[in-house]
Amino acid sequence: MKTLLTFLFLFTINANIFYADVYICDSKGAKKYHLTKDCRGLSNCKNEIIKKSKADAQKLGLTLCGWED
Ligand SMILES: [Zn+2]
Repeated sequence: MKTLLTFLFLFTINANIFYADVYICDSKGAKKYHLTKDCRGLSNCKNEIIKKSKADAQKLGLTLCGWED
């Protein structure tokens, strides 16, 4: 029972991370996604900042911005 609860707990956490929305700069050069719109990495974005699911961002080959911890 304890194992099952642990599993469900981990699954919930993973699902939250997986489906979390992230922000990306809508430019061809963008290689990073960001957890917040106010991230320093987005401050020099000249294009629109768009919201995507983290899964979509990763499918596009984007990786987490270096300013996030
Ligand atoms: Zn960032």
